[in-house]
Order: sequence, then C-alpha cells, then structure tokens
Amino acid sequence: MELHKVISNLIEEKKDKIIELSNCIWESPEIYFEEHQSSELICSALESEGFQVERKVAGLQTGFIGSYGDGKPIVAILGEFDALSGLSQQRGLTEPKPVIEGGHGHGCGHNLLGSGSFAAAVAIKDYMVQTGLKGTVRYYGCPAEESGSGKAFMARAGLFDDVDVAFSWHPFTKPGIWNISTLANYSATFKFKGKSAHAAQAPHLGRSALDAVELMNVGVNYLREHMIPEARVHYAITDTGGTSPNVVQPHAEVVYLIRAPKKQQVKELYERVYKIAQGAALMTETSMEVVFEGAASNLIPNSILADTMYKNLKAVGVPAYDEFDLQYAKEIRSTLSQEDIDAEMAGLDRESAKKLKSKDIADIIPPLGDEVLLTASTDVGDVSWVVPTMQCITACFALGTPLHTWQVVSQGTMPIANKGMLQAGKVMACTAIEAMENQEIIEKARAEWQERLEGETYISLIPEDVNPPQ
Ligand SMILES: [Zn+2]
Repeated sequence: MELHKVISNLIEEKKDKIIELSNCIWESPEIYFEEHQSSELICSALESEGFQVERKVAGLQTGFIGSYGDGKPIVAILGEFDALSGLSQQRGLTEPKPVIEGGHGHGCGHNLLGSGSFAAAVAIKDYMVQTGLKGTVRYYGCPAEESGSGKAFMARAGLFDDVDVAFSWHPFTKPGIWNISTLANYSATFKFKGKSAHAAQAPHLGRSALDAVELMNVGVNYLREHMIPEARVHYAITDTGGTSPNVVQPHAEVVYLIRAPKKQQVKELYERVYKIAQGAALMTETSMEVVFEGAASNLIPNSILADTMYKNLKAVGVPAYDEFDLQYAKEIRSTLSQEDIDAEMAGLDRESAKKLKSKDIADIIPPLGDEVLLTASTDVGDVSWVVPTMQCITACFALGTPLHTWQVVSQGTMPIANKGMLQAGKVMACTAIEAMENQEIIEKARAEWQERLEGETYISLIPEDVNPPQ
C-alpha cells in the first residue's frame, strides 16, 4: 500500500481521540505561558500512546517533549496550543458572541495546531511499530507562540541540536506549503520614571515620564526615514501615567516591536531605538529601564523539504466537503468584508484564483509557487536556524477568514477545521517518514540549510539573563 494510504488509515483510526483533544484545548483557551491544562492534555495523550514525556523543558512551565524510539534519524514535530486574549467566542455561530465577555479564545487555531501535530507524531510512531522503522520521533510541546517566543527559549537551551529535520503546520484557509521567510523580531518595554507635581501650581518641580514616552515616539518616527524599507517598527503606549492632566505624570511606559528580514538588522535597529529612548530620558530628566518582552529569528526556507512536503500534500489530497460544510462556510463568508476576501486571492497564481473565485472552501491545492517574504514573525524561525524546518498549511476555515478573529474561534471545532487538522497530520507524518526512510533527503535538506545560513550560527536574540516566567 502507498505510504499516504497507510498513514491515512492510521490517523483515521484515532481520529476521535485527536478531535477530542483539539476540542478540549479549544474549550479551555489559555494564553502564552499559562497553557497548563492544554499542555497537560497533550502530555497525557502522548503518554497514553507510549511516548516518554519530559515536562517543563528549557525552564518553561508549559513546555515539554514527548519522545518515541531511539537513535538516528531524529525527526521533530512542533505543536502549539496557546490562545489569544479578548477573543472568546461561542462555537459554530455566524455572529460574534463571546462565551465569557473579554475572555480568551483560540483565534489562531492553535487547538488544531497542537492536536494535528499530535496526530502526526502518533502516526509516525504507529508506522515505526508496524514496519520496524528505526529512529526517533519527538513531539515538541511549544508554548507561547503568540507572545513570549517559547520556541526561542527551547532553541537557546539546545533542545533541537541533535534533530535532523523538523516539521510543523498552521491552520489556514487553503492548503499549501509555507516555504517562506519571515521577519525576525524583538520586543521590549521602555519604562520611564519622573517626578509628579501639581501641573499648574508647581510644574517646574515635576519631570514628566509621559513627555519622555512622547519624545521617544517622535524620535523613532523620524528614524523611519533612515531604516531599510522591509523593516517594521510598531509601538503601543501601555501606561500613560494616569488620567489627570493636572498631575505631572511620574511614570509611563511604551512597548516596542521591531521587525526586519534578518536577525542582525533587528539587532541594529533595536540599538538605534534604544539610543532614542536614552535621548528622551536625557531631555526630560527622567530615568529609563528596559524590560525584554520577546524575540524571534527569521525563518529559513528549504526547497528540498518544501518539495518533499508538497509531493505528500498532493498525495494526501484535499478532504471531501459535504453540504453542511459548504453551507456553514458560506454563512461565515457573509460576515467577512470584501477586502478580507480579496486579500486572500492576492497571493494566488491566476489559475488557482480563477478556480477559487466562486468557492467558499479552498478545495484545490495551488502550485507550490516561489519563496516569499511574509511580513510577519514566528518563533518557528528560531527552530529553523538550528535544524532544517518546513511547515504546511491546510484549509481549516472558510476562504477569506483572517486569523486572530472571532470567525476563526467559531470555526475551530467544526468539521471543516477537523478535516484540515487530520489532513495536516497526514502530510507531516508522510513527509517525516519519507525523510526517515531516505537519508538522502535529510542530507540534501541539511546541505541547503547550511548554505542558506551563509556561515552564521544560531545566536538567540533573547538576552542571556532573560528566562521564561516561573
Ligand atoms: Zn498562529
């Protein structure tokens, strides 16, 4: 029997368990570094499948590694399970309605991500049992993807150093391979401290921390003209120092997020932003302290792994959608703006765009396409600096659904989402097994990866003295 059929059977046999795992994670959405229940659910599911689980790796309370088999080759499957704040939403609805007002929700589909990766790891293990294939499969339980850069801490701790190849996926609106590069990023909070005073009676006695924040932002906005066009700098004022204009604000904070195509560019840009912050403190006679928030490396693409994964995506094919799926997707689509729907089509080749124009669910696999730079960031980037890594995407949501929205949360336990999750599990398992059975794929992928690193080695962007919260 062909590999994709064997794997498909193995995953279909356990599909109830996989879907239940995803549903349970969806029902208790937990945000970055707080994924205690979600991580424990996956840990015990792995143990019930015969995996050895090591909890709390790299000092992460909710990070873990489940391992099966021994020796080389070693393949890693990455799983995420963190939710987003403020996106609580009832399941299956076609209108926004939170379960808990202001509560958390799985707006990026990481309940599916963690469970689809579980499906892949278990299918690889089952295949090893069935065929006697030698090697090791590891499930990396990676917390804090949305914020906190869990994988960057794991990579810094050397947890991927002996891995040959790594795979992951992301729930999306159409099937494909993410052979992309992403922006490296760095985030830090600048905390200014001044001196309060009566703003009318004795303003000369005060030193305004809010002035420092404003001057820093003005300075950075002037910096924009003199930075590379691919870079991005965003900020949010997280503490304005109070709500009374008649008090000189004694404290104020601003959080910065800096992105650029290469780690080194981010580092240099951060140093310039830091100088501006120092300047703002000097001008206002306030003091300034920096707190690190998160950092991720740029993602290294790999055409060998992309080709292998694409071939397996084609072999696995797209799931069958029934009347219910199509009707539900249509109703979800009616809640999207034309802009969202058009944006979805923008990255497609002409032929695929034509085929999908009148569709509510993407039921074709577009061509692999060229490598692109996605102007977003992910901590999968850090893993890709240590081991050749590839990700696939599958249609889990109606075409046009933007990530980080109530519509994603609503669709997160529906049949369309589960079908996409199982499909991704099959694609990752087939690709990983093909690599395990064929040393040449690993060697070629690693040679390409080595070349793309251009002689650089992985150095984490996280400052040495920063550790995950305990
Ligand atoms: Zn995500």
